[in-house]
Order: sequence, then structure tokens, then C-alpha cells
Amino acid sequence: MSGMRNRNAKALNGNAKRCFKLMIVDDSNLMRRRIERSQQFEDLQLVGTAGNGLEALELFKKTDPDVVTMDITMPRMDGIECIGQLVALKPAVRILVISALADKATAVEAMERGANGFLEKPFTDRQLNEAIAELMR
Ligand SMILES: [Mg+2]
Repeated sequence: MSGMRNRNAKALNGNAKRCFKLMIVDDSNLMRRRIERSQQFEDLQLVGTAGNGLEALELFKKTDPDVVTMDITMPRMDGIECIGQLVALKPAVRILVISALADKATAVEAMERGANGFLEKPFTDRQLNEAIAELMR
């Protein structure tokens, strides 16, 4: 756990007070809470969670997150569509796709739309934190 904090602190070297804003997007309430609970970065501040792509888009405009975890399969607007819209609004946003759709085509499409990382469900706390660390590097 302290290793994660150290690595993150290093990434923020020279800008120690910077806090990154996190948005969690998943249609499962349990999964949203799991991600929120499991992430171990002190300088990642949760600004909100959304249950579908449309909600995420609205919340994004209000809260301007720097880091987003993004489910793929969701009602109303899926993660693939949402990624494209978020990146159009803020090209520098960092998006980690967290999905059970582990097929290569989905991952490739998400990356093409502008996602920066891919984590397959189910995942361990360690895998989640390593994926976030990688994303923020
Ligand atoms: Mg889903």
C-alpha cells in the first residue's frame, strides 16, 4: 500500500499539492463502490460516480475530472460512445476501461476512441491500483 503512495507521490514530483479528480462510471452500484473503496491514492479525489454514459457526460461537464474509470456495457450510452465524447471535451483526460468484455476488439476500439488503459473484471485491489498508477504515469 505504501509502495503505491510512494509511486504516486513520485509521479507528482514538483507539484505536490496537485489533487487529481476521479470519476467512476459503471452501471453496477456494487462495482462503483468497490472501485471507490479499493483505490488507494490519497491524491485522487472522487468528484462523482455515474451509472451510464449520459450521466457520466453530464457529471463530467460539471466536475471536470482528470481520471475516469469506465465500464463498457451500460444502458442509455455505453462506455465506447462515452469515451469518445469525454475525450472530445478534454483530450488530456485519462481513462481506464474496467470491463468484463475482455475481447481484443473491445479493447482496441476503446483505445482508438482515446482510452489509456484496460482492466478486466474481475480484478484484485492490487491490479486496480497498478492499472491506475500506470494510467497516471
Ligand atoms: Mg456494465
